[in-house]
Amino acid sequence: MERPKPLRLAACPVCKSRNVNAIWYGMPLGDPEVLWPPNATAGGCALSGLDPNRVCLDCGHEWSTPAAARRVWSALPPQTG
Ligand SMILES: [Zn+2]
Repeated sequence: MERPKPLRLAACPVCKSRNVNAIWYGMPLGDPEVLWPPNATAGGCALSGLDPNRVCLDCGHEWSTPAAARRVWSALPPQTG
């Protein structure tokens, strides 16, 4: 299986780094290291609606982008098979 391409993510609002990961929630059926884009990070299965969905790998800042969250969720791999 070919790994998905990296997500196009906005820069960190704090330090302007482009070294940003998306945080994805939910329980992947397979190995996220294979099924997910390389810049998607597993955030666990608890989703309160307030969880950050972006993390900056340079300064550690975490934040939430509602519009991007919708796109990320729609990009999640299918939960069957
Ligand atoms: Zn940053």
